[in-house]
Amino acid sequence: MTFVITQGCCNDGACVAVCPVQCIRPRPGDPDFTTAEQLYVDPATCIDCGACLDECPVDAVHGDYDVPDHLAHYLQINADYFADHPIEQEEAMPGRTRRRLPEDRPELRVAVVGSGPAACYAAAELSEIKGVAVTVLDRLPTPFGLVRAGVAPDHPETRLVAERFRAVLSRRAVTCFFNVEVGRDVTVAELAEHHHAVVWAAGADDDRRLGIPGEDLPGSVSAREFVAWYNGHPDAADATFDLAGERVVVVGNGNVALDVARALARPASAFATTDMADHALAALEGSGVREVVVAARRGPEHAAYTLPEVLALSDLEGVDLLAEPTEVMGTRLADPTRLAERKLDVVREAATRTPTEGHRAVSLRFLLTPVSIDGTDRVESVTFARNVVTTTDGVVTVQPTGETETIETSLVLRAVGYRGRAVEGLPFDLHTGTIPHASGRVLDGPGGHPLAGLYCAGWIKRGATGVIGTNRVDAIETVESLLADLAAGVLPEPSGTAEDLERLVRERRPEVVDTAGWQRINAAEKQAGAAQRRPRVKLVTVEELLAASHAPA
Ligand code: NAP
Repeated sequence: MTFVITQGCCNDGACVAVCPVQCIRPRPGDPDFTTAEQLYVDPATCIDCGACLDECPVDAVHGDYDVPDHLAHYLQINADYFADHPIEQEEAMPGRTRRRLPEDRPELRVAVVGSGPAACYAAAELSEIKGVAVTVLDRLPTPFGLVRAGVAPDHPETRLVAERFRAVLSRRAVTCFFNVEVGRDVTVAELAEHHHAVVWAAGADDDRRLGIPGEDLPGSVSAREFVAWYNGHPDAADATFDLAGERVVVVGNGNVALDVARALARPASAFATTDMADHALAALEGSGVREVVVAARRGPEHAAYTLPEVLALSDLEGVDLLAEPTEVMGTRLADPTRLAERKLDVVREAATRTPTEGHRAVSLRFLLTPVSIDGTDRVESVTFARNVVTTTDGVVTVQPTGETETIETSLVLRAVGYRGRAVEGLPFDLHTGTIPHASGRVLDGPGGHPLAGLYCAGWIKRGATGVIGTNRVDAIETVESLLADLAAGVLPEPSGTAEDLERLVRERRPEVVDTAGWQRINAAEKQAGAAQRRPRVKLVTVEELLAASHAPA
């Protein structure tokens, strides 16, 4: 028997660290680790020990004898990876030494801003070191960032990573202040006064813009907002979307585009047992949407979505995945690995299908760049320029052919990527939408000098790329820099104590939610969910969340 990694792999590499024969690839540090769509087990090397199964935070590992039918193709997908990337005998095992502070050192205090994946991985790495105390701050009353408010509700296995993060934030060495906004309630400088180091890991919560006429018409919305709405993010508690029209156009074809396409195309009943926000369940129940067009500017060989996500979309009950034969046939891969071919095959097959009576459709369209979003008072259509893609010396260029196509719709979801927002008190690179850094050390400007005691991790550091587990390696790099700076004696000494900080936070923000308060929220949501056979029923307004945080046990 061997093990196999399937859909939902979070790429955090925790399985790699425990595998005694190093049969999982790519490994942190391997050249393709940061770009890998998932991790794979080599069936020829696996010794069936099950260590990866126990370690996987998202239940993506199965024994080959009990892979669920709908995931059976992952047996071949795992094997295909190794057919293209055979393990070399001499590959060294990546080792990790246990980190320690010097025996005689007083407590090292680190503030981590944010509580999403990058922040939780940073807090995990730091708080497992004896003598390190971590303060985690988040502007929302609940932790976990995009794990709570970004991951699709029909991917519950991906949300399982929250259990790992919950254990981290509950450690004795970790103090949590939720519902506290750094920059409004306390400043970065004040955090620095009370800690040896501050790690900014609060994500990228703005949108990339298309920069075309009509982008701000009513009915043109960022997919980020739509995701926040169906996931019960307090910022989107009052949002409404016009779902009366028959067609929705999604611009971009990354995994966010596929997430929103699934949410719109699947029957609302498919989400009834998930933790999708009640307001979204009700709105999707009454939806008139029949077709979701997912429009990409390049061809299917350059699709931004990952193989697991497009495979899952091709196999949904009541949903036809369609593609235009003229946009797909004849497409060739520059690097035809088995997995890249497989990804292309999903679209090739979609191009052979015809719509089924009574089904909704997701139409994957290619070679279309939006040039305007049109309408008098609100969105009525999107006009696209048709492209040709050329690749010269590995450089892909998209050029308009001069032809245009107009697609009628009343709702446009712009899924063209997230962007970081400038942070008060920290340098910001407007061009990349990230904090300038060197291995996680905040610099005074792009290519500049490190600012002592200031660090960053996650999307605000590297941009909005990668999946949840990508943030583990990212956070480890930042923590390594911080510890190297500690060893080099360049971390500033804080002037205030942990008690001083707590006093300051509670004075500025009496509505602060601590670990016990968040656990009361968690219990209340789970209790409400149990009654409906759902993982939880989310409380979606700050007021509801605060009330639950104070409720007697
Ligand atoms: P993304 O993967 O970067 O995709 C952005 C899409 O927008 C691409 O198709 C891109 O096209 C297109 N685009 C960008 N600018 C455009 C423009 N001006 N006009 C037209 N199209 C434009 O971003 P994302 O979907 O927001 O995802 C962000 C990250 O989260 C990704 O790493 C993603 O994998 C991850 N994520 C993962 C999951 C999951 O694992 N289930 C779910 C959600 C998100 P080009 O490719 O041509 O640039």
